[in-house]
Amino acid sequence: MEKGGGKGGPSSSSPVVVVVGGGIAGLGAAQRLCRQSVFRNLRLLEATDRCGGRICSQPAFGGVIEIGAHWIHGPSENNPVFQLALEYGLLGEKEKSEENQLIEIGGHPGLPSLSLSSSGKNVNLKLVEEVSNLFYTLLDQTREFLHMAETPVPSVGEYLKKEIAQLMVDWTEDEATKHLKLAILNTFFNLECCVSGSHSMDLVALGSFGEYCTLPGRDCTFSEGYEGLTNCIMTSLPKDVILFNKPVKTIHWNGSYRQENFPGETFPVLVECEGGEKFPAHHVIVTVPLGVLKEQMNTLFSPPLPRRKTEVIRRMGFGTNNKIFLEFEEPFWEPDCQQIQVVWEDTSPLEDVRAELQDIWFKKLIGFLVLPPLESTYVLCAFIAGLESEFMETLSDEEVLSSLTQVLRRITGNPQLSRPRSVIRSRWHSAPYTRGSYSYVAVGSSGEDIDMLAQPLPADFLIPQLQILFAGEATHRTYYSTTHGALLSGWREADRLISHWDSEAQQPKPKP
Ligand SMILES: Cc1cc2nc3c(=O)[nH]c(=O)nc-3n(C[C@H](O)[C@H](O)[C@H](O)COP(=O)(O)OP(=O)(O)OC[C@H]3O[C@@H](n4cnc5c(N)ncnc54)[C@H](O)[C@@H]3O)c2cc1C
Repeated sequence: MEKGGGKGGPSSSSPVVVVVGGGIAGLGAAQRLCRQSVFRNLRLLEATDRCGGRICSQPAFGGVIEIGAHWIHGPSENNPVFQLALEYGLLGEKEKSEENQLIEIGGHPGLPSLSLSSSGKNVNLKLVEEVSNLFYTLLDQTREFLHMAETPVPSVGEYLKKEIAQLMVDWTEDEATKHLKLAILNTFFNLECCVSGSHSMDLVALGSFGEYCTLPGRDCTFSEGYEGLTNCIMTSLPKDVILFNKPVKTIHWNGSYRQENFPGETFPVLVECEGGEKFPAHHVIVTVPLGVLKEQMNTLFSPPLPRRKTEVIRRMGFGTNNKIFLEFEEPFWEPDCQQIQVVWEDTSPLEDVRAELQDIWFKKLIGFLVLPPLESTYVLCAFIAGLESEFMETLSDEEVLSSLTQVLRRITGNPQLSRPRSVIRSRWHSAPYTRGSYSYVAVGSSGEDIDMLAQPLPADFLIPQLQILFAGEATHRTYYSTTHGALLSGWREADRLISHWDSEAQQPKPKP
């Protein structure tokens, strides 16, 4: 491989395209491009030995568990993930039904079937419902600040706390009930941290919060695993397109490279993998997670990304949400129980916690989702976000299992409660090719930053060169953090290349 002269725009009849990352964004882009005969020189480089990325289903407990994405959020007509899942026949009758598609939940998770407190009592579900209504009414009010030049406070968390403090003045209940309401509210704050993938709602920008859009439809799951969807996209691609175990080290751009396989051809981009292998390209679609960009942007691109791009990457939010699966021989919950909420009575969103993570990390757990029962085994799935979640990743399975056994014994008021048989958890923050769970609009950032991240490079030519294009969930302005946002972003960049080459086709081609 040698570096030659000239700028090397698209000069051949078939451009060479490299997609970096085999999550749903990368796979979606590759599938779209493969349908056009002009894109016959296509490669997808995936760092690991599997496709799917944050869609990751694992056989466990005699069934399948989702280590990453769990639900299709808003499974209805305009959700491309839902449509693709229908096309591939991956959904059940209930999920497909019109009735399910019409339900409007506004992105709010349903009420728990059971709410247990840290003193081992059942929390009154009417009170939980009242607090839930209060919390989501306030959360919906944040939409009022959309596109306002100035917001009264910078973050969603501060706004919610300010409103709660004002409303509390009129609470007429006894002191114990008031404290309990605050403790329940604290669980809803922690739940929203899981939804937003942030450590605290104080980190989530108020002005842009309302820009995130939800779709109608009651969230649904894949009975055989979410990864069935990415596997279907993967198998639809020609055999030699995907190359596994190819971590990309550096994307050299704005150059002019030659390669023996393409005599006489020059390429503006050269993708270099960790093992030294090099792939020349006219266009590269980068779909690595924002967590990877944050960690590696200084070495992943040569020359470095322009300053406006690196500042956006620094400003944007990318946090951690993890799952902890516990397997039981016998359920301690009723057969119709779907969700168990945990309320720590000594917590309040209005008070800061000052303690060592090792002593309190488990108080960030929001509760447990009851998974459909499998043959002779029962599974709960706990969710935990933020720094506490990242701390959990540093513990051993045994430490996590013991801590959660203590929590369960405490909230059920049963010191003899059987220890779970086993534990499996996700560790998205430690995952080298993810470095967290998903993006959010952080204080100091905005929807415009998302668009800036999505802008192709170089940006300073009159005729766009489209050397580096950016896709992935963090580049979708209204559906960031979701699988459908990721898929749409992959399609968007594939379409950008398709129309680029369509307009190229209108012009006489320079001779190679
Ligand atoms: C715990 C959890 C729960 C979630 N729940 C839901 C949910 O219920 N519903 C929902 O819609 N969304 C959910 N999400 C979010 C959803 O999974 C993501 O938004 C989506 O899968 C992201 O797809 P992507 O293609 O943008 O990125 P990814 O899936 O992360 O794909 C990026 C790919 O790039 C590869 N890569 C990284 N670095 C390199 C490199 N240097 N070289 C080559 N390859 C590289 C990675 O290995 C990966 O395969 C969840 C995510 C998590 C973590």
